[in-house]
Amino acid sequence: MKYSYVSHLYCPKCGNEYDTAGKQQLCSCGSPLLVEYEWDELKKVLTPEQLTKRENSLWRYHEMLPVENEEHVVSLGEGMTPLLKLPVLGKEMDIHNLYMKDEGLVPTGTFKARGAAVGVSKAKEIGVKEFAMPTNGNAGAAWALYGAKAGIKSTIVMPKDAPKITRNEVALSGANLYVVDGLISDAGKIVGKAVKDYGLYDVSTLKEPYRIEGKKTMGLEIAEQMGWEMPGVILYPTGGGVGLIGIYKALKELQTLGWVKGRLPRLVAVQAAGCAPIVKAWKEKKTESEFWPNSETKAFGINVPKALGDFLVLDAIYQTDGCAVEVEDESMLEEQKRIARLEGAFICPEGAAVFSAIRRLRRDGWITRDETVVALNTGAGIKYPDTVDSDVPVIKKDTSIKI
Ligand SMILES: *Cc1c(COP(=O)(O)O)cnc(C)c1O
Ligand SMILES: [Zn+2]
Repeated sequence: MKYSYVSHLYCPKCGNEYDTAGKQQLCSCGSPLLVEYEWDELKKVLTPEQLTKRENSLWRYHEMLPVENEEHVVSLGEGMTPLLKLPVLGKEMDIHNLYMKDEGLVPTGTFKARGAAVGVSKAKEIGVKEFAMPTNGNAGAAWALYGAKAGIKSTIVMPKDAPKITRNEVALSGANLYVVDGLISDAGKIVGKAVKDYGLYDVSTLKEPYRIEGKKTMGLEIAEQMGWEMPGVILYPTGGGVGLIGIYKALKELQTLGWVKGRLPRLVAVQAAGCAPIVKAWKEKKTESEFWPNSETKAFGINVPKALGDFLVLDAIYQTDGCAVEVEDESMLEEQKRIARLEGAFICPEGAAVFSAIRRLRRDGWITRDETVVALNTGAGIKYPDTVDSDVPVIKKDTSIKI
């Protein structure tokens, strides 16, 4: 049995095909490339039952991942995060089966580690010595640290307003770190030039095909953890949209394998009101989004004014009868507090945005009481120390307190 049943790369826009041996970036038509596998072969050798005995990491799905030689796997123990039932919050929202897939528990504290683990492993396999990327923080931190583990040099460019903790993670990893007085789009331009000038491997969002394969494991895990039953709705805080595209890809692949039955869950893209290009495009029934000027939100992970894979995100929403919802920063931070109080979970603002969207969709009747709802919390609240205000006066020693 082979470690991976990867077949080739294909373009979802023009259908061109490429092999997986080289440093493949975008299709010649400018579209991101997706990975295809030998499903008929795989169907014959792998069953869901075999998976249950495997290690508790995303590498349990290695046949459906692009790394062909196990020796190239670069792992910090990522994946197989808990799918937690939230009964108290569910009761408050009038949803009987509300779950949170908690990505705060992966290495580096956000689900970006999934994309980095698979992306860096494949980069190692195809002989990459040095890569570069622009980032709002979390992706750069994950790629720099996994790069360090793989022995690959990295150049990371981030806006000066990106959270200091992610800057520290990158600096500590020994990467070439640049902090730009501008936005992620400015960082992108700088990286683009460096890639051209120095022949670096460009690992910007969706400019290499393998990050999405790491992120799709969220969808594989949700299905496995639900006993291969499909939930009714899955909601995801959407920036570049790679997570949502990945989850959709995973569920369709499981259908191809015949491991899941019934309808796919309705997929919901949640965005911040200060940066909602996908929501706008969905409302206008468009198949692509437009650049969102002067974007702003405390949920910096979803501050992406124009995503390269927007057409794939919108397609996943349309194909599953999903929707797109925007949430004000104020209401997501309110929800972040409520979840800590009711469920003891300190989640990130992006994750909190999802719960705010669930509350609204339930109120509108779009989500019904009896369907199973899965919210993605994409990161740990402790990575965002400054979004929470806990100013309390310091008391003198030997003070007695009133309870
Ligand atoms: C990057 C990020 C997102 C958005 O992920 P995409 O796959 O790019 O849409 C959401 N939440 C957090 C915490 C992130 O870091
Ligand atoms: Zn193409």
